[in-house]
Amino acid sequence: MKIYRYPERKTWPELVKRPVFEREEISGLIAEIFETVEKDGDEALIQFNKKFDQALTPQITVSETELDNAADEISEDLKKAIQQAKENISKFHAAQIAETEKIETTKGVICWRENRAVEKVGIYIPGGTAPLFSTVLMLAVPAQLAGCREIILCTPPDSNGNINPAILYTAKLCGITQVFKTGGAQAVAAMALGTESIPKVYKIFGPGNQYVVAAKEFAQRYGVAIDMPAGPSEVLVIADRQAVPEFCAADLLSQAEHGSDSQVVFITDDFKIFTSTMEAVEKQVKKLPRNDMACKALDHSLFILTDSIEKALDFSNLYAPEHLILALEDFETYIPAIGNAGSVFLGNYSCESAGDYASGTNHTLPTNAYARNYSGVSMDSFVKKITFQHLSKEGLKKIGKTIEIMAEAEGLIAHKNAVSIRLK
Ligand code: NAD
Repeated sequence: MKIYRYPERKTWPELVKRPVFEREEISGLIAEIFETVEKDGDEALIQFNKKFDQALTPQITVSETELDNAADEISEDLKKAIQQAKENISKFHAAQIAETEKIETTKGVICWRENRAVEKVGIYIPGGTAPLFSTVLMLAVPAQLAGCREIILCTPPDSNGNINPAILYTAKLCGITQVFKTGGAQAVAAMALGTESIPKVYKIFGPGNQYVVAAKEFAQRYGVAIDMPAGPSEVLVIADRQAVPEFCAADLLSQAEHGSDSQVVFITDDFKIFTSTMEAVEKQVKKLPRNDMACKALDHSLFILTDSIEKALDFSNLYAPEHLILALEDFETYIPAIGNAGSVFLGNYSCESAGDYASGTNHTLPTNAYARNYSGVSMDSFVKKITFQHLSKEGLKKIGKTIEIMAEAEGLIAHKNAVSIRLK
């Protein structure tokens, strides 16, 4: 843990920097992986499975039988939990579909926007250190609601060459039948370029480790869109004296256990909460099965004592966390002051795991300070918005002069003529 007591504002820009992991080395590797996938297609993916996931996968396409059998391999309790989470996620996302509103900007000039689904989407489901079947719900549910015509899913196989049955079960439940055993940068390359088995898509979604994030950035060179840079997880907790140290510690660890590259930040204006939360973290981390990973993440995590909650929020806005928890008594007062954050959890009982799994909000969120300029995944991510307009003759007459004057001033006479010829 890195501990800071009342750090001066001028030191903040340095503090909010995320740990960087061999970035230079990664970019060369990603280019190589794309080249190999472009050249060797499925065979490249089979070889990468062997190299990076120690998996033998003669076929990278998941068979219908594998998809069907998954239901027998998971418990009824888990099925029920997935179902409840799916219902909440569907409810929250379906409510985001706005009615089309036609606007008459001038009499006879009507403008509107209509949504059209992105036709072909690729979903990446992380599987390296934890099989994130919850991410299947977060991406497949809105993709289906939006009406995406082709939805494919890539996820890394385990060392036996299998996909976790919970991922397969959830995929099938969400109507996804094209699932492929490939992970990391090579999966992103396959969705961007297409292989014999994997269709090329128009937009790639999903979080992942540094390799996945770097590959999604690289994929844009091939004309593929991406949801956002959603990389190693983060949480920033702001607590006051009524906060519960054990709750704060559990929330910090829930992100630290994601991976050694995760980052957690704790800020409080109360010395007692500061020390007791650190103690609670040390106590709880020892009992976690993913203790090793969480400890590595804690090494580069920040514990900050500050003199006011306002200052803590200023720091948070500069940091722009993926998840922000306000363990504050009067959290409502502080909502307007939140400028940059992916998803916000209010009060002592809004644990971040609720949003990760089942409250209904999306857990695919911008990391690495991208919450300054990106939103998390939502229904909007799966559609394009096309503008339409209809002008009557009367409408064109009403704005024609304006268009002619502006076009002439820009020296674009053909633009002016398109109006003049109609109004002659
Ligand atoms: P992953 O599926 O993202 O990555 C595993 C793959 O990485 C492997 O299949 C392999 O192909 C590749 N890889 C591993 N080592 C490699 C190497 N040395 N060279 C090249 N490729 C290599 O799974 P993960 O590693 O468990 O990471 C999941 C990540 O997703 C975590 O960092 C977690 O914090 C993040 N996450 C983010 C969000 C979000 O919304 N931002 C949500 C959930 C998870």
